[in-house]
Amino acid sequence: MTEVLDFDIVVLGSGIAGMSAAIHASKSQNEKVRIAVISKLHAMRSHSIAAEGGISGVLYPGQNDDSYDLHAFDTIKGSDYLADQDAVSILVKNAPKEIRFFEHLGVPWIREENEEIQFRAFGGMSVKRTAFAADKTGFFMLRALYDYLTGIENIKIFHEYYITHLLLSEKRFAGLFGINLATGERVLFKAKACIIATGGYARVFGFTTTSYSSTGDGIAMAYRAGVPLKDMEFIQFHPTALVPSGILITEASRGEGAYLKNVDGERFMKDYAPAKMELAPRDIVSRAIITEINKGKGLIQEGSGMKYVNLDLRHLGKDKINFKLPMIREITIKNLGLDPIEEPIPVRPAAHFTMGGIHTDINGSVMSADSSIPIAGLWAAGECGCVSIHGSNRLGSNSLSQCAVWGRITGIEAARHASQHKGQHPVSPNKLVGNAEKDLDRLIAMDGDESPYSIRERMQNAMEEHMYVFRTAKGMRQALKEILELKRLSKRIGIEDKGKIFNTNMRDAFEISNLLELSEVSIRSAINRKESRGAHAVLEYKERDDREWLKHTIATYSKKGPKLSYIPVKITNWKPKPREY
Ligand SMILES: Cc1cc2nc3c(=O)[nH]c(=O)nc-3n(C[C@H](O)[C@H](O)[C@H](O)COP(=O)(O)OP(=O)(O)OC[C@H]3O[C@@H](n4cnc5c(N)ncnc54)[C@H](O)[C@@H]3O)c2cc1C
Repeated sequence: MTEVLDFDIVVLGSGIAGMSAAIHASKSQNEKVRIAVISKLHAMRSHSIAAEGGISGVLYPGQNDDSYDLHAFDTIKGSDYLADQDAVSILVKNAPKEIRFFEHLGVPWIREENEEIQFRAFGGMSVKRTAFAADKTGFFMLRALYDYLTGIENIKIFHEYYITHLLLSEKRFAGLFGINLATGERVLFKAKACIIATGGYARVFGFTTTSYSSTGDGIAMAYRAGVPLKDMEFIQFHPTALVPSGILITEASRGEGAYLKNVDGERFMKDYAPAKMELAPRDIVSRAIITEINKGKGLIQEGSGMKYVNLDLRHLGKDKINFKLPMIREITIKNLGLDPIEEPIPVRPAAHFTMGGIHTDINGSVMSADSSIPIAGLWAAGECGCVSIHGSNRLGSNSLSQCAVWGRITGIEAARHASQHKGQHPVSPNKLVGNAEKDLDRLIAMDGDESPYSIRERMQNAMEEHMYVFRTAKGMRQALKEILELKRLSKRIGIEDKGKIFNTNMRDAFEISNLLELSEVSIRSAINRKESRGAHAVLEYKERDDREWLKHTIATYSKKGPKLSYIPVKITNWKPKPREY
């Protein structure tokens, strides 16, 4: 029996994008729309809580020669010119308002002596424009949203509900189907509008800074429902993940002045980005680190055997580290018994952020398969949506602004849509539920001898080996072969837990099938892009090729694998140029 719950709007995800969307949807209609916020975790455990370094925005135009145009230019250059420039303009013009909004919600931004909000340097940004709350920015932002949201009567949070299916009917949103994890009961959420805000899919890699929950569920379920995905080949590797765990050592460390050093103690970034040094964009710094390691200039960690370089904070001094980077100190002490006041931190690049995702228009409306009209009643916001402001390489601190800006935009749009469609739902999802129910029945009954967990391990190994910082045509083909084999094996998995209450075994199997699907899309999109751009660095192609490849990859589901097509990048003011730092 599937329980049916009825709302005006469902927000799938309670990270910074999802909670922002719910709040602005509610505010824009004077709290008259009934909203469900659904999260597979307790809302306050959403991945956004891990954000460390800060949020970008030009709060004081003119000060320090900063301007919206300069923020836009930095973002577009950082994206290796693949960002849609009209979308970037929306980001930079709206980000300051969001920083103020969070100030009003109570986020304790660090301030200057004159009480103005203080900014720190971040990679690829020409000036300091990242607002921050020590190195726990995500925690404070999520906490502030949660406190505010729980005070709104018409918003109900469904903690620990796992959504498995997005239901569409004739290019309209029809409902969400899933499980109440606490009871195992099946639930259909009916609503007039839906905002998908389920985060990224960097868990296709094992060595990653992201949460265990970053499994791209919303992207995969949208893809299976026929929604096109965009630019899935571009996965960001953050240069400084702690070795061996992969926990993030925020870029704010370098923003505050930390050095990267090789085995000889040299600041090697002088050979790769002499003007920006450690504050070059992430794709460039990650390539520099791996190049140093490949030249034999890295170090080897005892025990793990992992190769790394050093991130040296010692010259920043105890006071600065304790005030501005307290969590980094706590992380290294707890994990390695290493105090960064006294010793350098071992780091190497880890999967961190997924630039690609659900293909949306500039308002976050989810596009239909032919890319020309949006699906009625469906939006995507935050890391799962590809409105395309990051292109092929995101600049640090631009994601939180993206989550907040498109959280607000999609919330307001969805609320307007819901209030214009009062009364009956335009489509009845009941008859669509049958297939979703059968999928779940099939999964829970599976008793084959393949373990979903060993499939996940093999998938992550293949991605690590062939889809990492440097790629080769041959390696990517090998990765694809392995993923296709794993997809075949996944039809023979066994679900050992046949129970209903918190059946994490079944949830994991779902997540792993989502990751496999997205790995395939990512690899096929990467194989097809015959150039090196941003985070997609292929050894066979030395350069970016604007003549052939200044375009977005669109991947649409078919039973035989994704069908790839291309759409142009929107260029407004900034013509592509060589990217030098
Ligand atoms: C360690 C780390 C630090 C970072 N620091 C910064 C920073 O300082 N500045 C910056 O700009 N960016 C930073 N980023 C990136 C940024 O944190 C993320 O891009 C952003 O928080 C994503 O937010 P979101 O709202 O899109 O999704 P998330 O916060 O990932 O939330 C996803 C939500 O969807 C729900 N969900 C997912 N699947 C399902 C399902 N099947 N059923 C039900 N619910 C589901 C989850 O429960 C969760 O509530 C960092 C990333 C990492 C990994």
